[in-house]
Amino acid sequence: MPTVPMKQILDEAVKGGYGVGAFNVNNMEQIQGIMQAAAETKSPVIMQASRGALKYTKMLYLKYLMVAAAEDNPEIPIAVHLDHGNNFETCRQAIELGFTSVMIDGSLKEDSKTHTTFEENVEVTAKVVEYAHKYGVTVEGELGTLGGIEDGVGSGNILLTDPAEAEKFVKLTNVDALALAIGTSHGAYKFKEAPVLAMDIITEVKKRLPNTPLVMHGSSSVPKNLIDIINQYGGTLKHAMGVPIKSIQEAIKRGVKKINVDTDGRLAITGAIRRYMTEHTDVIDPRDYFGEARKAVYETVKGKMIDFGTANHAGDYKAKSLSDMIEIYKAK
Ligand SMILES: [Zn+2]
Repeated sequence: MPTVPMKQILDEAVKGGYGVGAFNVNNMEQIQGIMQAAAETKSPVIMQASRGALKYTKMLYLKYLMVAAAEDNPEIPIAVHLDHGNNFETCRQAIELGFTSVMIDGSLKEDSKTHTTFEENVEVTAKVVEYAHKYGVTVEGELGTLGGIEDGVGSGNILLTDPAEAEKFVKLTNVDALALAIGTSHGAYKFKEAPVLAMDIITEVKKRLPNTPLVMHGSSSVPKNLIDIINQYGGTLKHAMGVPIKSIQEAIKRGVKKINVDTDGRLAITGAIRRYMTEHTDVIDPRDYFGEARKAVYETVKGKMIDFGTANHAGDYKAKSLSDMIEIYKAK
């Protein structure tokens, strides 16, 4: 199966009432671990690359790893998504590279740190949507800002999404999916205690925009066992808490359909490599510890596919192509 438009994966998730994980990728082991989990649980999947990932992989390497993933897993719908595009040009490049979806984060300026006004956000988002839809590519926008900083993205302040503005924003821009700020935070050090999320915002936005799939960023759970493994084998991470799986499941019930997970994959990889290196002090074959890292990604992602309700939905529908989407957008 070629990669599919993210809009289809999310629209199907709206119909089916489940969530789909969007997992950040930077290398082959992450992609293979995620795809093994998707294949085994029969889950549609979103793989996303940040600007940092594109730079690290010089874009082309990542592109062909995604192509390989799709060719290797013909039964699995896979969307390839740009995470936090900071301007029109970055989104245009991702589309040219073959991404089936882009995020334009117009809640922040190009520096990915300074807040924009509502009008500035609408302007850049609408411009990206108009361009992307010509190619059948999905667009995710963001209204409100998250806490924390990861991959250089974030102002450090949380500004919760206003549901009335969200409705206006979607009507003005035509975005396919909307990321809400409900109190989650990017990065590993999210909260000292379990966070209280503004679930009512999801419910209120869903009421106003019943057909728009909603997105939750900063949704790693930062499981204690992953932190413990890292620290047991020489790491010095502070105690931290992420978003508990129960809260994510509640958010899915209320209308969140795309759940962004980056940190948990990082923790799983780091712990696996630390443990392997400590237990095998004479190891010199990278396949040994990268193989362990791949297995750790697989286990973490598989758990999420089951917890988010994604499992067993890969065969629900026939994949649309970007050309199909071009026609659908034209008819609108
Ligand atoms: Zn994010």
